[in-house]
Amino acid sequence: MPRPIRAAIQPEALAHNLRVIAARLPGRTLMPVVKANAYGHGLARVIGGLQAADQLAILELDGALELRRLGWTKPIVLLEGCFGEEDMQAARHAGLDWVIHDHAQLEALRVAMPNWPKEAHKPRLYLKLNTGMNRLGFDAQGAAAAIELLDKITTSAGWPAPVLMTHFANADSHDLMRAHPGPEGQFNALMALKPAHWASSLANSAGVFNCPQWAGDVVRPGIAVYGATPGPHSAADYGLLPAMALTSQIIAVQQVPAGQRVGYGSRWLAQRDSRIAVIACGYADGYPRHAPDGTPVWLQGTMAPVAGRVSMDMMSIDITEIPSAGVGTEVELWGNNLSVDVVAHHCGTIGYELLCAVTPRVPFVVM
Ligand SMILES: *Cc1c(COP(=O)(O)O)cnc(C)c1O
Repeated sequence: MPRPIRAAIQPEALAHNLRVIAARLPGRTLMPVVKANAYGHGLARVIGGLQAADQLAILELDGALELRRLGWTKPIVLLEGCFGEEDMQAARHAGLDWVIHDHAQLEALRVAMPNWPKEAHKPRLYLKLNTGMNRLGFDAQGAAAAIELLDKITTSAGWPAPVLMTHFANADSHDLMRAHPGPEGQFNALMALKPAHWASSLANSAGVFNCPQWAGDVVRPGIAVYGATPGPHSAADYGLLPAMALTSQIIAVQQVPAGQRVGYGSRWLAQRDSRIAVIACGYADGYPRHAPDGTPVWLQGTMAPVAGRVSMDMMSIDITEIPSAGVGTEVELWGNNLSVDVVAHHCGTIGYELLCAVTPRVPFVVM
């Protein structure tokens, strides 16, 4: 028997989550984000569940090319644009669209234009504005001139009208009106600059659920597609279903007398005579090493707490109160019964990080 850990991907959950998102924003262009190998789920494993999407967004050029090999014929957008001339030629050959977030990228396009074959792919370009997040994009000073130049380039080449995009910094806030920058202000800043014949693109997952009125025409949900929450509410509250279940089994049970300790650094102390289950899952599988004692693991319809430091290949939980559990019992580290967001919260991080961190040694299956 192989080591019992596995990550199960459920394309039907992805398709369900897309329907939930589409219902929030009818009539928009739905562009799920599949960067970071589809948030750790695997491009090849999610593509079947994303067939209802209008287009896909990704960062990595090699990932975009893989999507083409996998048969995705609809638009693909490179979210950080082309890293140089070579990327742009590759994007042209693969029929990709891309973001332009700074003057160097815009200038590279201007230089490449005269040699762009007439019959070649006509990309739809996304000009990115910095409206207060101060990460990527043209700032207020440079934006107007960049918009004008890109409009001239695309009009003269007969390319599709570009999309003006920006990224919400605080759409997951409990108090959207008091957030700085808030999504309304970012939306207004974008609309003030947007040429009438250009489309807009603003919303990430949090924007879709918390402020759809400022989402724009092309929506870019990531985490919600995979059934985890962007915040501030739970994924279940948003009607989302988890697309990944990380499961394993108990491979050993220790009777630990009161006063003894468990694991590296002897962090966990048995306050009573305890049954400690050892699970085949560790940080080399992507489970966070910094999970504190008390982080829940699901088994047999209930939860058991992490007991002791997570090691490379194993972790321990306290099953004193679950006498029916023993070697061979199935456990869920996160999935349908235990939200990845809950585990992440215990670990001081977000579900995104845990989903992206499942390592290559974990066997994946598509359900
Ligand atoms: C990652 C990303 C998204 C998706 O964000 P989520 O919070 O996962 O929905 C949207 N837009 C851009 C530009 C991104 O980089």
